[in-house]
This record gives sequence, structure tokens and C-alpha cells, in this order.
Amino acid sequence: MRKQFMVIGLGRFGSSLTKTLIENGHEVLALDKNEQLVQDMASIATHALVADCTDESVLRELGASNFTHGIVAIGDDIQASILATLLLKELQVPKVTAKARNEMHGKVLSKIGADHVIYPERDMGIRLGNQLSSDNLIDYIELSPDYNLAEMLAPPAMNGLSLKELDIRARYGCTIMAIKTGDKINVSPRAEDAIRTGDVLLIIGSNDDIRELENDYG
Ligand code: ADP
Repeated sequence: MRKQFMVIGLGRFGSSLTKTLIENGHEVLALDKNEQLVQDMASIATHALVADCTDESVLRELGASNFTHGIVAIGDDIQASILATLLLKELQVPKVTAKARNEMHGKVLSKIGADHVIYPERDMGIRLGNQLSSDNLIDYIELSPDYNLAEMLAPPAMNGLSLKELDIRARYGCTIMAIKTGDKINVSPRAEDAIRTGDVLLIIGSNDDIRELENDYG
């Protein structure tokens, strides 16, 4: 479904977000008070405009309430980030995602109504830390503070064994959701499906369970 996004702040984060949303076929109105950054986005975004997004009348004129999703990608200017988030919620944008610089900033954004608060630098640090700590973990996505989706390279110790033989769910409490072999992906694999060294396993489980599995096979 084509969605309408309003992206406020075209720094490194906001501009790469805008490009990705456009590549995925969505409409994006990209806004920044910096004219140069707006010009750089003009050929990419559906519309790119110079605007001070802490001004309610400006956001109203731009029809903020018609957008399905607003993203406040202002990081450095915490006051502007808070004001823009507050205004988008007051103008009844259904889903507002706001980028926080630190925990306190994030708390305030949640309190004033941001539907989703993201901490790109903190989360990237956690993700990279997990990837670098392990030879087999390729990627790690936090589903909640306790549960993760991990991509793990199947080690030689699993080669030729079926899911039934490996018995991962009973032994570790995590579930192999899918097995990728080259370009092919086997979603909802069956008990008799065998794993080969180099397959990529998509595993859901708690942090501790995934870590234990990884340690035993790492
Ligand atoms: P990043 O770390 O992603 O580069 P920055 O905080 O450096 O993020 O960039 C935020 C962007 O938000 C800047 O380009 C800045 O001009 C823009 N910005 C800041 N305040 C406002 C505002 N009131 N209205 C519109 N854009 C703003």
C-alpha cells in the first residue's frame, strides 16, 4: 500500500530515510529549514520544501493532518524536535516516529505523544556489538527488550541434521523460523528439513536463549 510520509529534518538520517521510502514506492514530503539540504532532496523526494517545522501554521498549511506518518528526524536541536513532534500529534497525524539523541530526550518525546521513539546510534551500537561478538551471528533485530530475531550462519556442527534431530526449541527455547540456502528461502521449515553448513537460519528467541545456542555452536 502506498503511504504518505512527512519527513522533518534532512540530515544524514532523514535524507537516507527519505531515499529508502521513495525507493519503496511511497510518497514523501521532505522538509528542512536548510535550503541546501532541501535542494539536494528535490530530485529524490516527491516534494521537498524549506520550512520551519516548529511553526504550527506552516505545518497546517502543508496539510500535515493528511499524512499517514510523520517522522521527526531532528537530532541536535532537541527543542525543535520536541515542538515538531508535539505539533504533528496536535494536528492528528496518526503515526509519529521521532528520533532521540538520548534517553531523556526519548522519554519526553514519548510523553508528548510520539508513537514510536528511535535511538539510531544506540541501537546500531548494540547491533554491531552483537555481530562483532560472534562468528556466526550475521544480524540481530530487537523485537522487544527481551526478544530478538537473529540471523545465524549454520555452523559445521549442524550439517546434515534435521530440525527434529537438532531439537532447538526443546533444548534452547528458540525457534528456527526460516532457512535460507543461497537465494532460496524455506519459510516455516518442517521437522525433517535438514540444515547444511553455510545456510542462514532465522531464529526467534529471548536474548539469553539465542546467546546460549550461539555459544554452544560458535
Ligand atoms: P543527523 O544526525 O541525522 O544528521 P541532525 O540533527 O544533524 O541529524 O539534522 C537535523 C536536520 O533537521 C538539520 O538538517 C536541520 O536543519 C533540521 N532542522 C532543525 N530544526 C528544524 C526545524 N525547526 N524545521 C525544519 N528542519 C529543522
